This record gives sequence, structure tokens and C-alpha cells, in this order.
Amino acid sequence: MEIFLVVVIAVALSAAFFLRRSGRAEQRRAGAPLDARVVYADTGAWTRMEKPLFSRRYRLTGKPDYIVQTETGALIPIEVKPNRAATQPRHSDTMQLMAYGILVEEKFGARPAYGLLKYRDDVFEIAFTEELRAKFFEILQEMRAARSAKNVPRSHDDPVRCKYCGYRDECNERLA
Ligand code: SF4
Repeated sequence: MEIFLVVVIAVALSAAFFLRRSGRAEQRRAGAPLDARVVYADTGAWTRMEKPLFSRRYRLTGKPDYIVQTETGALIPIEVKPNRAATQPRHSDTMQLMAYGILVEEKFGARPAYGLLKYRDDVFEIAFTEELRAKFFEILQEMRAARSAKNVPRSHDDPVRCKYCGYRDECNERLA
């Protein structure tokens, strides 16, 4: 049976993968330009997604919170983080949205040019550039490789992250 990687879980893990990488690679990632801007969004036009999307080709599944159809007919995925306040999108949230962009493309046959990320105060428009797409697949590949590895060392020194981690109970390296 095809094994799907659940995007939400994948993205939660991805933060660890970012930090596990060597300093140089991490710098390269952190310095990568992100095409994001704050936009006004008519939230009333958003349609809540009820069912997850699947991609057999990429072995991915995930459910954007909402989807909206633009005037040109394009379908745009939307992720809402109502408790998050930040002036810039988090990288893990951006990757999660990119995953939804790929899932929307797979499901509806048209590649969305961007997705929307709603934090508490702002809505960011994240362009689905080729670079972002390539980065997403790079992370996905790393995560899949690590899933078959026996041990993946802790990648950070942040007890707060461990405190809220879903793998905390089974993790020998937890800090909290
Ligand atoms: S509990 Fe373990 S897996 Fe979770 S964040 Fe901490 S070190 Fe990472």
C-alpha cells in the first residue's frame, strides 16, 4: 500500500531538519529570498476544506484550512495560524503552504502561483517560486531518508520546542 507522508507531520519535522543541517547549508537556507508580502484578503470568500488532498505521485497528503478561487479561476490554498503573530512568515509555515500548493495542483490540474498564510494580524501572500518548490522537495527527500534511519540526532537546544513536540514521549533526546 502506498505510504503517504502527512504534510502536517512532515512540516513539524522539517524545522528540525533545517537546524540539523550544517551551518553553511543552514545559512544558505536562511538567506534564501522568500517572495512574501502582506496583502488584504477577503476572508468571506474563503471556502473551508473539509477533506484532505492526496498526491499519489508525490506520496503526500494534507488539508489546507481554506481554498479560494480568484477572478481568473485559479485555486489558492490558505493556511490559518490564528495564534501566531509575526512580521515575517515562518519557514515551516511557508513549506507547509508550498505542500498545499503542490496538492492543489495535483488535485485540480493547475499550479497556483501563490498561497495565503494568515497569522493573527496579517495575511501573507507567498509566491510559489521554482526555488521554493525545489526546496520543499529537497526537505521531503531528506525527511524520507531520515525516516528509514535508525537515529536522528536532536538538532536544537530549545526546551520549548520539545515541550510541545508530538514525539516527546518517545524521544530520548527531549529537553523538556
Ligand atoms: S522531543 Fe525530541 S523530537 Fe521532539 S523536538 Fe525535542 S528533541 Fe526533537
